[in-house]
Parts: sequence; C-alpha cells; structure tokens
Amino acid sequence: MIYLDYAATTPIHKSVLAKMMPYFRESFGNPSSIHRFGQKAESAVDEAREKVASVLGCRPDEIVFTSGGSEADNLALRGAMTARKDSTKWILTAKTEHPAVSKTAIQLEKEFGFLLEWLDVDGHGMVTVESLAKAVCNNTTMASVMYANNEIGTINPIADLAATAKANNILFHTDAVQAAAYLDVDVTKLGVDLMSLGGHKFYGPKGVGALYVRKGTNLVPHLTGGSQEFSLRAGTHNVPYIVGFAEALKLAAEEREARTAHVKPLRDHIIGTVLESIPDSKLTGQPEKRLPNHASFVFKDVDGNLLLQLLDAAGFACSSGSACKTGNPEPSEVIKALGYSNDWALGSLRITLGMDTTPQHVESFLESLPPLIEKARNLNR
Ligand SMILES: *Cc1c(COP(=O)(O)O)cnc(C)c1O
Repeated sequence: MIYLDYAATTPIHKSVLAKMMPYFRESFGNPSSIHRFGQKAESAVDEAREKVASVLGCRPDEIVFTSGGSEADNLALRGAMTARKDSTKWILTAKTEHPAVSKTAIQLEKEFGFLLEWLDVDGHGMVTVESLAKAVCNNTTMASVMYANNEIGTINPIADLAATAKANNILFHTDAVQAAAYLDVDVTKLGVDLMSLGGHKFYGPKGVGALYVRKGTNLVPHLTGGSQEFSLRAGTHNVPYIVGFAEALKLAAEEREARTAHVKPLRDHIIGTVLESIPDSKLTGQPEKRLPNHASFVFKDVDGNLLLQLLDAAGFACSSGSACKTGNPEPSEVIKALGYSNDWALGSLRITLGMDTTPQHVESFLESLPPLIEKARNLNR
C-alpha cells in the first residue's frame, strides 16, 4: 500500500515520538502541581512553548496550546468575535476555508447574531487583496483567510492580506495548519494577529495544536475552568503531546528546505504527467503558488469516490479533497467555489506527498492512474 495522503495526516516522526515517551510514565506530573513532579512537567511545557515561539518569531506567552488545528480555529474566531461583541460585527472569510473556520463562522452568524460575508476567491481558490479590501467596512471585526488550502494546495498572499486588514483596523486570523509543514510561519513577517497550527500535519502527534495570539488581542476563553494557557483554555496540559508538537514544528522549520526539495520535483512530475496522459483532466488550485507536496485535479465524468476506491484496491491511498468528505456525493465546498460544473467537480482527486514518498511510488502511481480513470469513466456511464 502506497500512502499519498500526507495532507490528511502524517506518521509521527521517530525522534518526535522519542521526545514524547518520557512524559507518559517517568515524568508524568501535572504542570500545575507545586511539587517536583509538577515542576518537571511544567518545565517541559515551558520549553515546548519557547521552541514554538522561536519558530514563529513571537513571545512564548503568545502561544496557546490546544487539542488541534480545529480547536485553534474555533478559539480564534469565536474568541475574538465574542470579545468584541458590542463594538463591531462583521466577520469575513471564504468558502474555501477548512470547515473548522467556515462552520465556526456560520455558527457565529446563526447562533450569535454576527454578520458573515464570504470573500470572493479567484479561479484558483485564492483570496486576493482586492477581494478583502472590497469586503471591509467600518463594522468589520475580523477576517480569517487560510495560509494554504488543504484541498487544492493554493497559497494565499497572507502578508499582503494581513497588511490590508491592519490598515483597516481589523483583526486578521490565518489557518496555517497545512502551511506549517512547508512554509515560513514567522508571524512578524506575516503580520497576522492570530494563527492556527495542528501537529499531525507536520509529523507530530494528532490531537494537539496551537494558536498564536498577538499580545493585546482580546479573546473570550472557550474552555473555562483552571487557569492553564493564560486562562484561555482550561484543562490539564497534555504534556507528551505538547512536547511532541513543539519538536515536530522545530524539525519542520529546520528541515523545510530539504523536505521541499524532496517532494517538489516528484509533485511536478505528477502534475505534468497526469495533465499530459489523461484526457479531460485539469489541475485545481494555483499552478505556481501551491504547497510543494500537493497535486490536485478534477477529471470530467468521473465519480471521485469511486476512483478513490479503485485506487485503494490498486494499493494507493489518496483523497478527493478534505478527509471528511469521503462518502459524500456532493462536490466539496472548495471545488464548488472554483466554479466547476458538476460533471467536473465530482471527479476530484488529491495526491499529497511526504517524507517517505519515493520516485518508485510516484512512477507506480502514474502507471496505475490512467487505466483506473478509464475504468471509473466506463462505470459512470
Ligand atoms: C487538518 C486541518 C485542520 C484541522 O486540524 P486538526 O488538528 O485535525 O483539528 C484545520 N485546517 C486545515 C487547513 C487543515 O488542513
């Protein structure tokens, strides 16, 4: 079985796992305890926070550890909007966002009475400065635009968008959950106020993430209880996972160039060969400004879910987009936002590469795909 779905999740890096292990049994203390067991755990969490802060170029007390990327997105959006309830009311985001952002924005509209405006995206699913500038008004509280898209790989111009937000005095959040594996996540260079990260997309553990919160950004805590995480997120720290998250992020930053150099030529070979050898195929997302490990396509008159099953039977693990879409016959919101008609939109395929991908994996995939597309097309008739 060949795994080509690194945007859904990655296997944990061995040295990350090794760093985590002592905190399950030997150093199992609660960081909030006064005694030495507690102190040891507390210093592990402090050290992890410093490691994350040094990759992000921020202060350690601007990092809030969460249970993952989804929770970080929830805290950013709901926390910031509910904190500014009386002053301003609009939230701006795009239909191409991960559901952790888009569904939270919809909930803010439906249940909390905020106003939601969807930002226009271009044909590659990119949010441009013009589309943000056009949507901003005097009563806008925040904008949330993802750094890189999980389904189509498009990288948004975050520094420019954040500068536009700042010029208009609105908060800017970015979901950098996919981006952190390959792109620079320095918050000073990006100029963002809030940024979400999730460990399992860069060879860290699942179930742990972080939210960068620029000093002075007011958030309503979304888990109330103990005073952990600067009282923004109650609950005993998940020490081994926090340690693993920080180590994985540090390695991702250190090895960014090498990891990119490994996947990018393989990714380019996939894109070139697929478009050349398969009739009625199109690349989805930005051809240039896209994640280096990410190839995504639509094929006309193909049932994407059927194709995934055929690929699985042939030994390849791919995706049609977001991992959560499996079994759903509707095209994804992201593919819909690109404006494809249903005969194209239902035939989406995402191939995402990673550290263990070899040229042989790619060759074998490229040999197997065309006949499987043909088969899926015939079954679709
Ligand atoms: C995976 C993902 C999330 C969710 O992160 P979890 O850690 O799985 O909760 C959010 N946004 C994007 C862009 C993602 O790819």
